[in-house]
Amino acid sequence: MPVALHGTGVSRGIALGPARLLQRGRPDIPQYVLPSHLINEEVERFISALEAARAQLHAIRQQIPAGTPTDIAAFIDTHLLMLEDATLTTVPIELILREGCNAEWALHMQQEALTRVFDQMDDAYLRTRRDDVEHAILRVQRILLDQTQREAAIAAEPEGGRIIVSDDLSPGELVLLHQHNVAAIVTEHGGPMSHVAILARSLGIPAVVGAHHAGQYIRDNEPLVVDGRQGVLLAGLDAAGTAFYRARQQQEKRARAELHRLKDTPAVTRDGTAITLFANIELPEDIQAARRVGAAGIGLYRTEFLYMNRSAPPDEEEQYRAYSKVVKALKGLPVTIRTLDLGADKTADGTAPDRGATNPALGLRAVRLCLREPELFRPQLRAILRASQHGTVRLLIPMISTVQEIRQVQELIAEAKDDLRQRRQPFAGNIAVGGMIEVPAAAICAADFARRLDFLSIGTNDLIQYTLAADRLDETINHLYQPLHPAVLRLIHTTLRAGAEAGIPVTMCGEMAGDPLLTRLLLGLGLTEFSMPPPALLEVKRIVTGSTLEPLHQAAARILRQDDMEQTALLLAELNSDD
Ligand code: PEP
Ligand code: MG
Repeated sequence: MPVALHGTGVSRGIALGPARLLQRGRPDIPQYVLPSHLINEEVERFISALEAARAQLHAIRQQIPAGTPTDIAAFIDTHLLMLEDATLTTVPIELILREGCNAEWALHMQQEALTRVFDQMDDAYLRTRRDDVEHAILRVQRILLDQTQREAAIAAEPEGGRIIVSDDLSPGELVLLHQHNVAAIVTEHGGPMSHVAILARSLGIPAVVGAHHAGQYIRDNEPLVVDGRQGVLLAGLDAAGTAFYRARQQQEKRARAELHRLKDTPAVTRDGTAITLFANIELPEDIQAARRVGAAGIGLYRTEFLYMNRSAPPDEEEQYRAYSKVVKALKGLPVTIRTLDLGADKTADGTAPDRGATNPALGLRAVRLCLREPELFRPQLRAILRASQHGTVRLLIPMISTVQEIRQVQELIAEAKDDLRQRRQPFAGNIAVGGMIEVPAAAICAADFARRLDFLSIGTNDLIQYTLAADRLDETINHLYQPLHPAVLRLIHTTLRAGAEAGIPVTMCGEMAGDPLLTRLLLGLGLTEFSMPPPALLEVKRIVTGSTLEPLHQAAARILRQDDMEQTALLLAELNSDD
């Protein structure tokens, strides 16, 4: 009897192979009070465990094969940084000394405190950092509890061609598994924004996460099939079923090779309109992924990642180095650097508590925080301006909702330029300044904003959440988070028209821009600049090069008149079926 287990497909591809179960469960954390004469020894035990954990991570880092995307090393470095940070070093020691408790329990208390902070964050990317903290702490706990066999087992046992079924995986474990050429991974927990999901995508390993209880249904060594696009794990298939998936696997391989051929093909529609396909990046190390798919530049560089996992924000020099690295690597192609998008419950160290905001997503975020704390903002503006001397930089302001904010940022940019002139530090004089359209007020007033800015960028992730009053992270109202809602489509259209009338470019950098099912609709609405995660880019290019704009404009105009999303979905399916 075939069994199908469903989760979330986070990295495409079909894999067939024998199962390898890696179940570990969470260790039970003992709690006890120590007699006072043993407390110093307990502190020593904790410090040794931390050192051993760091040594393990350094060893894993050494084993990363040449040619592996650099973001892999960056994940390991993130864990190393965490294991050096006072939140995981000094605070547990203080707890041991103050409470007289055992090291495991002190670390556990600190983990709970950090988890509470992360749970309040309203930004999916930042919330994924909670997984990192958990993985880093788990590594130390296992050393304290003498439970380190699992990584040793992974390292020792050849996993080649196997499908790993695990309750959870850490990025370090995925690096080891990748060296053994695993065929696919399936985890019971985790979401599409978890780092293991991001890593699996960048390594091209088919992956399904959130396949609840998979470990209970699957036996070691039994033949499995994973469909990383559909998010399905299949067991017990007969010969015909297996042959079906083998054929699909071959088909996918051919399609991927075919897509790769498009890397250097210009993104031009059949009727000759050039479309710009940019990549979104989070760290300077992500440039390689953007280059692998032939991106026309960076349409969104989320700089807040530089500010995370540290007790003080990066200074101007550090930022200048990071931005310059990206700008130089892009060799003249545009790099859109978005200013800091932290706020409310997310201050510069990424861990400070809420300041009492009742609705953090509606609070002191992004440009609001930067204008309130200009001393945080000024070094970033200077660093971006200085990096502009090495190529083509566009400066993007997140979450603007009033023209006053635009004016204030422009004044600060003018001041930053004056400072640099005084210091005799070079920068490009003509840096373009743009605004994100991610608040409904900004979309409605897009024409006013367009007159004051050099370009606009539609952030659909937030535009959808704010337009529909549907928290982008709240699973209970997922059904309301609808890109095809008429209000969302009309706001996108208003923004595109405002840009066209003002004669300035409009990019879309939210996830909608990388969804191939929406490419033709967006082209029809008049979008000509898309920015997306690198793995989505070639598929979108394929659709662009196969499309003729005129009929798409007509179909999009019809879709815009719909008041019912079901009707919109039917029209969209029709639009896509002409492919
Ligand atoms: C968006 O809101 O669409 C966007 C691109 O910004 P972020 O996802 O970083 O909030
Ligand atoms: Mg946003």
